[in-house]
Amino acid sequence: KIKIVEKLVPQNGNSYEIETSRRLLDDRIRELFYLIHRQTLSEGVKLKLESQMISLMGLSSKLENADNSEKSRATERKQIADRILSDIKRNQNPKSCKDSNVLICNLDKECGFGCQLHHVTYCAITAFATQRLLVLKKDGMNWKYSRDGWNSVFLPLSDTCKYAEAVRDETPAAFSATSTDRVVSLGIVDALPTRPAFLPQAVPTNLLRNISMVHSHPPAFFIGTVVAFLMRFNSETIDKLEKAAQQVEFSKGPIVGLQIRRTDKVGTEAAFHGLDEYMEWTEIWFKSQEKMENKVIDRRIFIASDDPTVVPEAKQKYPNYQVYGSTEIAETAQLSNRYTDASLLGVITDIYLLSKVDFLVCTFSSQVCRMGYELRQASGLDDGTKFHSLDDIYYFGGQQAHEMVAIESHKSASPLEIDLEIGDKIGIAGNHWDGYSKGTNRRTNKMGTFPSYKVVNDWRTYDFKLFV
Ligand code: GDP
Repeated sequence: KIKIVEKLVPQNGNSYEIETSRRLLDDRIRELFYLIHRQTLSEGVKLKLESQMISLMGLSSKLENADNSEKSRATERKQIADRILSDIKRNQNPKSCKDSNVLICNLDKECGFGCQLHHVTYCAITAFATQRLLVLKKDGMNWKYSRDGWNSVFLPLSDTCKYAEAVRDETPAAFSATSTDRVVSLGIVDALPTRPAFLPQAVPTNLLRNISMVHSHPPAFFIGTVVAFLMRFNSETIDKLEKAAQQVEFSKGPIVGLQIRRTDKVGTEAAFHGLDEYMEWTEIWFKSQEKMENKVIDRRIFIASDDPTVVPEAKQKYPNYQVYGSTEIAETAQLSNRYTDASLLGVITDIYLLSKVDFLVCTFSSQVCRMGYELRQASGLDDGTKFHSLDDIYYFGGQQAHEMVAIESHKSASPLEIDLEIGDKIGIAGNHWDGYSKGTNRRTNKMGTFPSYKVVNDWRTYDFKLFV
C-alpha cells in the first residue's frame, strides 16, 4: 500500500502552500471577473476590464501547467484514486460472503437516472463508512431503467458475492450507523433523522491534505472516485460509449460541454436558462484559452439535453461553432430492446461525454450535470474549477451543511450583507456569480451576502476506517 499520508510534497516539488495559493489566486481572478461582469458600466469601460480579466484567466490556466507540473499532479491523483478504488474492491470482495456485514441498497427510489445513481453513491459511502459489503437489492434486477437490471450496463458491485449468498434468509434490520445486525437495509437519505458525519461532502481525514495538494475540489474528487467505481461499464456498453466518443472527435481540440436541463425541471426545481446564457460562458472560456495559447482556437461544443430543440437552435444561431448533439449520437448508438427505458443509453452516453469535455457549462441543480462533473474528477484531471454553473454551487443531495471560513473581515455595506470576522464559519447557501455569495454566519446567526473572495472552503473530514 502507498503510504500517502506522509508524502506531502508531490513530484513537482511544489509545497502545499504554493499549490493551494495558486488555486486560490485562480479562484479570486474568476470571482473578480464575476463582479465586473455584473457591473453596470459604460460599454467601453466594461469591455476593457473584461478583456484584461480574460487575459488574467488565461495566464492563470497557464500557471497550472508551468514547468510541465500538471503531469506529476496527474500521476499523484491517479495514485490516490487507485488506492481508494483498491480499498473499495477489497471491501466488496470479502473472503466469506455469508459472514460479511451487509448493507442493502434499494434501487426503487422514484426519480431520474442521476438521482438514482446518487442514491447508490450515498449507499456506497454509507457502506464504506460502516465497513459493510454493499449489495443492490436482488442484485439490481428490480431497476426500472432496464428490464435486465443493473448489470445490463454496469459491472456487478462484487466479483464474488451475490445478493442471495450475502443476505441469506435473514430479515434485514433498518440501517443505523451503530447497528450490530449483520444485514441492514438503507432507506433514502431524506429519511435519516440526523446527518451522519460521513455524508458528503466529507473527505477521508487522512487523504484530505494529499488530495488538496493536487485537486481543487477534494470532496468532488472523492465522490467522483466512488461514482467511477459504481459506473464501471460492461464491455457492451463501453463499445457503445466509445463509438459515441468518436463522433464527438475529442482529439480534434478543446471542446466545451453544455448540459441544458429543461422539460419537467423548468418552473418546478429550476429556472429556465436560454441557450445564449450557456454560450456566453462558453465564449468566455474559449477566449481565455486563446489568451493562454496565443492562437485562434476552433469553437466546438457538445450539447447534452432533454430538450430536442436545443441542438438545432445552436446550429442555426452559432454558425461559427461546430455543434455535436447528444440526440443524434444516441440515435446512431443503436438502442437495443433490452433497455426498458430507451433513454437509459442516452443519459449514460451524455454523462460519459460530459465527463470528457474540457469545460462544462450547466446548471448544478441538475443531477445529470453533477454526475458528469463528478465522473470527470476521477479521470486523472483536475476539473474542480473548470465549469460554470448558471445556478447552484456543487452539492450532493442530503449533504451535511457546506461550510466556509472567513479569511478576511467584512463590514456589511447594505442591509442585505452580513459582517464577517476572520475565522467565522459560514454555512454557504450559494454563489450569486456576481462576486458575492450568500450564507449564514454561525457566530452571529445572521444570513446575508458577503464578497466571495473573503472566504475559503472548510472541508469536512471523516475517519473512514476503510481508507486508512
Ligand atoms: P435532474 O432532474 O436533472 O436533477 O436529474 P435526474 O437524473 O434525476 O432526472 C432527469 C432525467 O431527465 C434523466 O433520468 C433523463 O432521463 C433526463 N435527462 C435530463 N437531462 C438529460 C440530458 O442531458 N441528457 C439525457 N439524455 N437525458 C436527460
